[in-house]
Amino acid sequence: MTTISTIETKAASGPPPPVLLRTEPDRNCPLCPRLKGFREAVRARQADWFNSPVPSFGDPDGRLLIVGLAPGLQGANRTGRPFTGDFAGDLLYATLIEYGFARGVYQARPDDGLTLIDCRISNAVRCVPPQNKPLPAEINTCRQFLIATIAAMPKLRAIVALGRVAHDSVLKTLSLRAPAAPFAHGAIHQAGVLKLYDSYHCSRYNTNTRVLTPEMFRKVFAKVRADLR
Ligand code: SF4
Repeated sequence: MTTISTIETKAASGPPPPVLLRTEPDRNCPLCPRLKGFREAVRARQADWFNSPVPSFGDPDGRLLIVGLAPGLQGANRTGRPFTGDFAGDLLYATLIEYGFARGVYQARPDDGLTLIDCRISNAVRCVPPQNKPLPAEINTCRQFLIATIAAMPKLRAIVALGRVAHDSVLKTLSLRAPAAPFAHGAIHQAGVLKLYDSYHCSRYNTNTRVLTPEMFRKVFAKVRADLR
């Protein structure tokens, strides 16, 4: 069952968060030493891969932002486009096309011509982490780019957080109180004009274990679609 919670923003009790202008990190961003080292080690082994912080994809004027965890080693870290080239992208892009948030044919390549409609995709952490597990300090450090990305989307009304890490980072980005907005698949949290929709991450592990079925995933985007008519 969908739960909807209304959460207070700090706007009522303090100044809004600072607006930072840099939405994209440098190709050689040094801010997370462990991730920088991992990135460079993969770069040495796989010189033809992207191997850099993966930029957001899609329309900055979109009303929908999807926030994932971090680039997959052989997915976005290889191709340079979020969710492109690994299993998570198969389910995400098929679902976005089905609900009118993307057009074209997803072919797991950044030059496949796929276009997002009214939609942007980013990650809580822009660099590939070992074992898909960024450290809390890395999530905190990279949040400056998520803050800037959200600040640069003037028409933003809906955020889909894919997984708990993305959910928690979005809450902190928006200066929202975490206890009032616990993560749960299918939950919707209202924060002013914004709605935050929670979904389990569309990873191969979650779908193989049936933690997340394609139908559960589609229901989240059906709700977003209905709200963004
Ligand atoms: S994860 Fe973000 S902050 Fe850390 S090195 Fe990569 S781009 Fe920089």
